[in-house]
Amino acid sequence: MSAAPRPGYLFRPPGELSRSGVLDVGLRCAHSCRFCYYSFMAEKAGQFDALRRASFRSSEDCLAIVDRMADFGLINFDITGGEPAMHEGLPDMVRRASRRGLSVRVITLGQFLLRPGGGRERLLDALLKAGVTDFLFSLHSAGEEGFREATRGSLQTVLDTMEALDAIGFQYSANTVIHAGNVAELPRIAELSASRGVYHHNFIVFNAYYRWDSPASIADLQASFPDIAGPLTRAVAVLYEAGVAVTVRYLPLCAAPGLERHVVGVVGVHHDPHEWMNRAGNPERPPGYCAEPLPVPLDGPRDVYALRFGPRRLDFGAEGAVSAVAVRGDDFKVFPPLCRDCAAMPYCDGLDPKYVVLHGLAGLAPFARMPGSPPLTLARRAYLPAFALKRAPLADMRGAIARVLGRRPLALDPLVTALVDAGEGAATTLEALRSQTCGAAEILACAAAASPGRARNTAARNARGAVLAFFQAGDLPAPELLARSVDFLAGHPELSLANIGGGTADFQALLSGDSASSALVVRREAFDAVGGFQDGLGECLGWDFRLAAAAAGHFGDSVDASLLRSSKPGRVDVRHHEFPLVIARNADIFPRGAAPARR
Ligand code: SF4
Repeated sequence: MSAAPRPGYLFRPPGELSRSGVLDVGLRCAHSCRFCYYSFMAEKAGQFDALRRASFRSSEDCLAIVDRMADFGLINFDITGGEPAMHEGLPDMVRRASRRGLSVRVITLGQFLLRPGGGRERLLDALLKAGVTDFLFSLHSAGEEGFREATRGSLQTVLDTMEALDAIGFQYSANTVIHAGNVAELPRIAELSASRGVYHHNFIVFNAYYRWDSPASIADLQASFPDIAGPLTRAVAVLYEAGVAVTVRYLPLCAAPGLERHVVGVVGVHHDPHEWMNRAGNPERPPGYCAEPLPVPLDGPRDVYALRFGPRRLDFGAEGAVSAVAVRGDDFKVFPPLCRDCAAMPYCDGLDPKYVVLHGLAGLAPFARMPGSPPLTLARRAYLPAFALKRAPLADMRGAIARVLGRRPLALDPLVTALVDAGEGAATTLEALRSQTCGAAEILACAAAASPGRARNTAARNARGAVLAFFQAGDLPAPELLARSVDFLAGHPELSLANIGGGTADFQALLSGDSASSALVVRREAFDAVGGFQDGLGECLGWDFRLAAAAAGHFGDSVDASLLRSSKPGRVDVRHHEFPLVIARNADIFPRGAAPARR
């Protein structure tokens, strides 16, 4: 068995920060989305005048931003605007991204892609030729009339574009802004997505940002949470059945019971693998400033959204007032007294005070328990479909999502196969394994071979266990090692690997070259998904396997190191001759040109 080829997607580890960026080409836009953030930007003018008058950034600037994002170690990015399909330099930007090893997604209302670009071929074909990885289409309505009412664009044009992509097996994502005008049709929008090549659907609850600055200004757009909850729940069910990942942005955690794992707000947004880490906007600033990732803490939101406790009262004049026991940032969101004892507060955005004035607190209820570690709830961490990142144009994203959704929990008392490398000390390890306390185990000795990876793979082919435990010759496992490992995996259905006796399963540590690994206990399906160990590797075998497993959505964690005494050194020096091989094999995890450095 040799390791499987890369499938064109990557699972980002839940809890890690995003490594996505944004190229904002400028605000110029021909569309008229009712809920556009950039409405009424021009003083004393119509809602969309600023978008019509805006100019695009130069292609030269845009290409420089792409280069700088790559230099900063981002691995993929969105191109947005305005309407980026109106920028004549769009194919060049995509081409530059491909050349720099970045995957690239175009965010668009999908109105111009089937038109000729540059006077000859269709813009869609030019972008495909340039290597575009993904599109994020706006699907704000399920009907032509509703779409036109919401955007002044044509739904049929979007669907025609999707059909052209479906015909070549190119999967893509979709965005729906939830507003008062489309709440009832959310399930039908989901059906549209499900019946086409959408692999990830974002529902974005309308945000009253920028000039949407008073309760009265948003009264026609902001749907109430009790009105949203039912249709949204049905829409998510439709997408689940179709194997489509779903993210719901900017909804208080209690507003749609049962959908907690889908919710991302200002809390946790930078842990969404598609979120932008650098700055959008700033057209007057140089490319380096725009491309530079912002500092975001690993365990919470950006400082501007930090939770601040203390009584507050926000006054909206004749429209009303809101009392709060805590706020996020500069009163950006509030937590009314109802939230005082809610266990979810560290994970929850809270409420827009304008929303509270408009709709009150109906449908909201505090949680008694909310397991997790900030900023992500346990439910979110365990929802792996949300962490799949498209890296190649024809990647089978739905297949990847189906595989993680279809994972079964470990059976009670599963059979464990312990496999021991050949070499000095192997007999001692085999003897120690005979006194394991776990219910059912078989013990196999790997044959001596030039390639330890091949020897392990050959032995694994004969293994009957649902869990495989790999030991180096000379390892001394404690009697309860296998039982504890199985308990660990059974208690963490989202994890596939238990790392024992040294080394790390922490993804950042893996990337930074911490290659130490003693025993590795792994679910059989993860072993099969990775395709086993890599031929030609020795001391870096475990490191390479854990990286490849993470990329396939099989993550791990460390279990009590005292369960194993290892005869081998715990770390491999970064100058080891196998390091470049491992980096090359896992090039879609490491940013291009990056070399791991010991932390
Ligand atoms: S903090 Fe408040 S809004 Fe958020 S989940 Fe709890 S009760 Fe709901």
